[in-house]
Amino acid sequence: MADASAECNIKVLCRFRPLNQSEIIRGDKFIPLFQGDDTVSIAGKSYVFDRVFPTNTTQEQVYNTCAKQIVKDVLGGYNGTIFAYGQTSSGKTHTMEGKLHDPHGMGIIPRIAEDIFNHIFAMDENLEFHIKVSYFEIYMDKIRDLLDVTKTNLAVHEDKNRVPYVKGCTERFVSSPEEVMDVIDEGKANRHVAVTNMNEHSSRSHSIFLINIKQEHVETEQKLCGKLYLVDLAGSEKVSKTGAEGAVLDEAKNINKSLSSLGNVISALAEGTKTHVPYRDSKMTRILQDSLGGNCRTTMFICCSPSSYNDQETKSTLMFGQRAKTIRNTASVNLELTAEQWKKKYEKEKEKNRMMNETVQRLESELNRWMNDEEDSELDQLCPGAVPLECLIPREDSLGRLPREESSSSGLSRLPREDSSSSIVIRISEEERQKYEEEIRKLYKQLDDKDDEINQQSQLAEKLKEQMLDQEELLVSSRGDSEKVSSELGRLQMESDIAKAEVKEVLQALEELAVNYDEKCQEVEDKSLQNKLLAEELAKKMAHLMRIEAELSRLQEVSSHQRKRIAEVLNGLMRDLSEFSAIVGNKDIKLPMEITGAIEEEFTVARLYISKIKSEVKSMVKRCRQLENLQMECHRKMEETGRELSSCQLLISQHEAKIHSLTEYMQNIELKNRQLEDNYDSLSEELAKLHAQESMSEVTKGENQADIEESADVKRALVQQMESPRETHHKQLGRLRDDINEKQKIIDDLTDRNHRLHLELERLRSDFDRLRSQEHHKTLQLEELTFIHERHEQSKQDLKGLEETVARELQTLHNLRKLFVQDLTTRVKRVRE
Ligand code: ADP
Ligand code: MG
Repeated sequence: MADASAECNIKVLCRFRPLNQSEIIRGDKFIPLFQGDDTVSIAGKSYVFDRVFPTNTTQEQVYNTCAKQIVKDVLGGYNGTIFAYGQTSSGKTHTMEGKLHDPHGMGIIPRIAEDIFNHIFAMDENLEFHIKVSYFEIYMDKIRDLLDVTKTNLAVHEDKNRVPYVKGCTERFVSSPEEVMDVIDEGKANRHVAVTNMNEHSSRSHSIFLINIKQEHVETEQKLCGKLYLVDLAGSEKVSKTGAEGAVLDEAKNINKSLSSLGNVISALAEGTKTHVPYRDSKMTRILQDSLGGNCRTTMFICCSPSSYNDQETKSTLMFGQRAKTIRNTASVNLELTAEQWKKKYEKEKEKNRMMNETVQRLESELNRWMNDEEDSELDQLCPGAVPLECLIPREDSLGRLPREESSSSGLSRLPREDSSSSIVIRISEEERQKYEEEIRKLYKQLDDKDDEINQQSQLAEKLKEQMLDQEELLVSSRGDSEKVSSELGRLQMESDIAKAEVKEVLQALEELAVNYDEKCQEVEDKSLQNKLLAEELAKKMAHLMRIEAELSRLQEVSSHQRKRIAEVLNGLMRDLSEFSAIVGNKDIKLPMEITGAIEEEFTVARLYISKIKSEVKSMVKRCRQLENLQMECHRKMEETGRELSSCQLLISQHEAKIHSLTEYMQNIELKNRQLEDNYDSLSEELAKLHAQESMSEVTKGENQADIEESADVKRALVQQMESPRETHHKQLGRLRDDINEKQKIIDDLTDRNHRLHLELERLRSDFDRLRSQEHHKTLQLEELTFIHERHEQSKQDLKGLEETVARELQTLHNLRKLFVQDLTTRVKRVRE
């Protein structure tokens, strides 16, 4: 496969970053002294590299000077590797990645991505390119795929050319720089997601970006392929400086283990004398086997801090670089030969083979000769011609691989030679050698298988861990669910108990139903028998029905006639009723003058109306009765008043008689009075005469004393006589006057009463007249009402009769309808059956 091969040393480039802010603040000294392009001296000691970049070197300068060539090499079919080595924060990531999307600040990887495609576009059109990239990191000697987070522990295998590669690593085909950048972004994002402290993590893990370019010439079918590893190593500082303890310390040791195995590999390669290069000590060294002393053009950036604070680390870094500088790689183009080329090669190889066979034969004969000599001399242990083990066991080449056919181009390599390092020479036969070889191969195979297994197991473990977490979550939720479910269960059990009871009942009911069912079955049988009979009967009935239907149609006709008639009658009735209502005086009741609708409706209206009239009549009758009562009362009152009147008249006549007698009496009294007055006058005259006589007697005093005395006595008697009736008269007069006054009072009183009675009489009379007129009026009304009532009764009777007839008609109609419907249903049933 490999054709043109060339040996070359690893290129080592040294880059110093500027002092950072905290170093300046701390007042650290700037220790490196740059001499020329390739030398830097620290504390008086000079270190020479292929190139030394002072602090002010731009990213572009770095790229153009060193990395650009590598792109060309890779596109030319060589393998390439760029390492960045140095302590944490010495500028490794800055150099490899830089600011990914900043045209000035971007580091080597983004520039390479761009450059590759620029080259490709400028190359022969007949070339077809397949570019794929992978991105992974190595942490604690586990390879983690950054493009697929599920792949956490990938294994390293060897391909058919015994070149190690990461098995199962995600490969992305890319066709533009943007796609490459996308992949880098994705990988970086995944890296960030996986860890908590990115700075710490990135300083302890190696990140490797792999670009695999395959090209094929469309016409010649010539195939070339080149791999480019871009490696940002973990910080090279010693553990003590970071102050790690416990688990972190273990981790640091582990990380340092991979770095120290890198150092060991480099040392072994640098010394060049050691036969064994410990590539297999760590996965990283295995992956980079070709990059270190193998088929690869390798560039190593040694990143350093300029601060006096880091001088020890800087020195050891520089030493490391010096050692690495001595490693020699044999880079060859990875060319897949075309048929023509193969043919040539075959011829060449055939020729080689022939020559080798010749040599073998020659050697064999020589050997035989020697053996014979040996037998003669019996010197078997310290024989100068014995094949030393190192020569017979095929030495691992610098890549740890068994030598390929072409590498041992000269058969003379197996010629016996003196080796100072192997004082004890053990003879082993060809067979044994092959056996050992086979065994070693087997062991390596087993190792790879184990690696594979470990990877699978760890993947499984990761998966199981995830599953565990999921399961735990599920468990928690399940617990909650289970509580819910148990409560639900309790409820359900209760429900189920209830349901069971219900079911029992239902079962009982079912049993009953079953019994019933049996009975019913029996019944059904009976019924079916009956049915048959009935069916026969039905047939008869059907005939009958036909007749009835005819009858029905006739009846319907009749009924329609009747309906019409009823409607007419009803109309008449309604008219009567409305008239009646007019007569009764209830204007509220309004009757539809035209009755044409359904008879039932009309009837209801009529009924309503009649009931209204009924209530009206009732109220009227009541009123009549009230009026009659009132009349009776009036009569009674009138009689009473009449009686009172007659008694009053009697009283008046009595009083009149009394008045009359009193008047008479008064006249008598008047007469008496007059008599008495006359008497008084006559007596007064007598008195005057007597007075005259007395005066005469005085004149004649002596004349007759006796007479005088006699006359005085007479006078006194007379006076006495006169005096006594006067008094009685006066008394009588006063009494009479009193009597008169009294009588007059009585008369006045009686006159008053009489007057009042008269008035009362007048009033009663007028009342009586009024009542009489009222009575007359009421009697008239009553007569009218009685007349209406009678008419109403009559119409009611008529209506009742009518109603009855209509009801009868309706009933018959209804019956007919029923029969008709029954017949229809049976017919329908029969049709369905
Ligand atoms: P490492 O990857 O080695 O741990 P970084 O590349 O992350 O270190 O660099 C640490 C810091 O120093 C970053 O902030 C980076 O920008 C800065 N830095 C490193 N090298 C340079 C340089 N050559 N010029 C300017 N700044 C630099
Ligand atoms: Mg870094």
